[in-house]
Amino acid sequence: MFDKILIANRGEIALRVLRACKELGIATVAVHSTADADAMHVKLADESVCIGPPPARESYLNVPALLAACEITGAEAVHPGYGFLSENARFAEILRDHGVAFIGPSPEHIRLMGDKIEAKRTAKKLGIPVVPGSDGGITSDQEATRIAREIGFPVLIKAAAGGGGRGMKVARNEGALSTALSTARSEAKAAFNDDAVYIEKYLGHPRHIEIQVLGDGRGNAVHLGERDCSLQRRHQKVWEETPSPALNAEMRSRIGETVAAAMRELKYSGAGTVEFLYEDGEFYFIEMNTRLQVEHPVTEMITGIDLVNEQIRIAAGNELAIRQEDVLFEGHAIECRVNAENPRTFAPSPGRISYYYPPGGLGVRVDSAVYQGYSIPPFYDSLIGKLIVHGKTRNECLSRLRRALDEYVVDGIETTLPLFRALVRHRDIIDGNYDIHWLERYLSGGEGAE
Ligand code: ADP
Repeated sequence: MFDKILIANRGEIALRVLRACKELGIATVAVHSTADADAMHVKLADESVCIGPPPARESYLNVPALLAACEITGAEAVHPGYGFLSENARFAEILRDHGVAFIGPSPEHIRLMGDKIEAKRTAKKLGIPVVPGSDGGITSDQEATRIAREIGFPVLIKAAAGGGGRGMKVARNEGALSTALSTARSEAKAAFNDDAVYIEKYLGHPRHIEIQVLGDGRGNAVHLGERDCSLQRRHQKVWEETPSPALNAEMRSRIGETVAAAMRELKYSGAGTVEFLYEDGEFYFIEMNTRLQVEHPVTEMITGIDLVNEQIRIAAGNELAIRQEDVLFEGHAIECRVNAENPRTFAPSPGRISYYYPPGGLGVRVDSAVYQGYSIPPFYDSLIGKLIVHGKTRNECLSRLRRALDEYVVDGIETTLPLFRALVRHRDIIDGNYDIHWLERYLSGGEGAE
């Protein structure tokens, strides 16, 4: 096992990793930008290193500074959290070349899944169902038209290097195809410096359902069930829950087993998430994330498995200790991503938290790195805390969530708490009756129901 781990991240996820390290008796190194000198992860770590000025590309994405921090502190491994360098194959390679372990999958697997065209091809080969569409990149308007006619309109143009919902454009008919193609291309070029795009069938009312996996790189892999992340705004998840209100135990184990078998064949190492759209009883692969996800706590709540602990054990070379039959799903869990934003316009609301009171009690977990008097810097994402609630049944979970949301007080800045207080009381949410477009419809005043 490692003696010392450097956490190449900030905010609640840095704290989450730090907690797992402490429980394993591993010393921790925090890194931070000058804007984060007062951050909680810096206060709680055994050591800390300032790695640069506020902009992320000069600090949290600064590979030479991170390497130097490993060297100075003698850290043997790096946990990248999510975002920043967590899906950067080159970073994983550089660490490997310097004898530092990367707590995540191999650079080869990161690279493979980072290219969405390659990822889709691989998924198909491994027996995972995919969204109908082009087999590779689209090179001309003619090719796009031919494929779009084949699969039928509407179609979605997506960036091969995509992420965060960028470079995605819907074309509802043939007339709109050429413009959608060129807009997607230029957006992709601007965001990822790669204008490769592909085309797939646009699903009208799917749910987003993803499967959590753990593999040890030796051909052992298990799935930890699904998360339903259909409540999204601008393709960004807002609320996640498990089990999905749309699946039964048999459907869960069928798709879970398909994914676990694929991961065994791939000899995948570490934690990963295979994302699907689910419509009319069918699953369609959209992408795989080769890292820990923001919404991982809901899986932890119903399985009792500490995902970060498992990631660390696997990266240290241990065989997977969990067998599929050991994975038991108990109760229901929901996560709300609380952002420092106006709950109607979603304009960021950084600033000083004048009063902070997080909820507590049975089945309530708050993963957050803020505290009373803390000033949220304007340089990073606006997530200030994840409220995760567990109950024996979905109804118990919803009642507990209602209660916890009402207890949560964050003063001095605006937050999205009022949005969640409304959602948790909405009939469609209570009934579990929502798809990936529900929240946008609700926010535009059209209510969620179709
Ligand atoms: P990104 O990597 O940019 O997040 P994803 O492929 O994961 O892109 O898709 C993000 C979201 O976009 C999905 O959760 C879903 O809401 C929507 N989406 C993606 N593909 C399709 C599709 N074929 N049809 C309809 N919606 C889609």
